[in-house]
Amino acid sequence: MKPPAESRTRVIFHVDMDAFYVSVERREHPHLTGESVIVGADPKEGKGRGVVMACSYEARALGIRSGMPISLAWRKLPHAVYLPPNYDLYGSVSESVMDVLREHADIFEHLSIDEAFLDVTSRVNGFDGAVDYARRVKAAIREREGLACTIGVAPNKSTAKIASDLAKPDGLLVVRPEEVTAFLAPLPVTRISGVGTKTAQILEHAGVRTIGQLAAFPGAGLKKLLGRNAVWLWGIARGIRLIEAAAAAPMHEGKPARFDAFIMHLDEVTRRVMQLEIEEAALKKEKDSASRERLEALRRERAGLAPQADPLNVHGGAGEEGGSGRGGADGGAGI
Ligand SMILES: [Mg+2]
Repeated sequence: MKPPAESRTRVIFHVDMDAFYVSVERREHPHLTGESVIVGADPKEGKGRGVVMACSYEARALGIRSGMPISLAWRKLPHAVYLPPNYDLYGSVSESVMDVLREHADIFEHLSIDEAFLDVTSRVNGFDGAVDYARRVKAAIREREGLACTIGVAPNKSTAKIASDLAKPDGLLVVRPEEVTAFLAPLPVTRISGVGTKTAQILEHAGVRTIGQLAAFPGAGLKKLLGRNAVWLWGIARGIRLIEAAAAAPMHEGKPARFDAFIMHLDEVTRRVMQLEIEEAALKKEKDSASRERLEALRRERAGLAPQADPLNVHGGAGEEGGSGRGGADGGAGI
């Protein structure tokens, strides 16, 4: 029997600490508040080697970026406060923040020293309850470590991450399932984590600048342009609805399950949808009845894997696994 659609929509948080290294330094040294702070290599009055590892929002407003050569930062902003990184401190604060996040998640994925994905589906009453719960997570981190974070909330990881990027600092942005397509469509493709300048250039040449344009681009054409990278990118832009096993295996003796399995599922599902489109394109030219039937079957399979028009219209029962390459509850595009 099909469970209510609402119960199968995942609620995913992307939690990202705001200017993490700098915020930790400021907590230790309150006189740095309001200053342009740059954490990284020793600038040696402009002769230093190495890069900016992190910088305050004040420094960002004056053109400093992480990854920039420290010598260039010095030329732009010689009067900023330059600090060497204190890895031990950042590491221990990070562990404490991650402990708080882990306590608040059904499924926890540690993404980097200051970022994590949380699947909080069982802890909130759909997207209506997600705002209050996200506020509670933010308050818990502030209480434990005195630090601010931004949370993006969405039915899948890629959208949650984009939402948190847009809401920084100290923000909270919820993208409900029915809003995902409209939310993503006008954004530049570079908002997708992992799309760098090179990919963006290739896409731009093909007339694709926004995620909406990317979603409308034929899968086979994208594969020609980007090769293997097309698969995950196409999946994100199309909002392919990954059907993952979270409902089947949520927790093992208090140990949260991991997202890795979902990513594998996403890749499989996305590849299959792409194959289907390519085969469909070839069959469209055929007029015989066997080809027509095959085409219909392929279309039905593809519709089942990627029901984009209605994000709550999911196929397959909860807990159902494998076989057709999908199983369990409905999820969203991962990565
Ligand atoms: Mg961060």
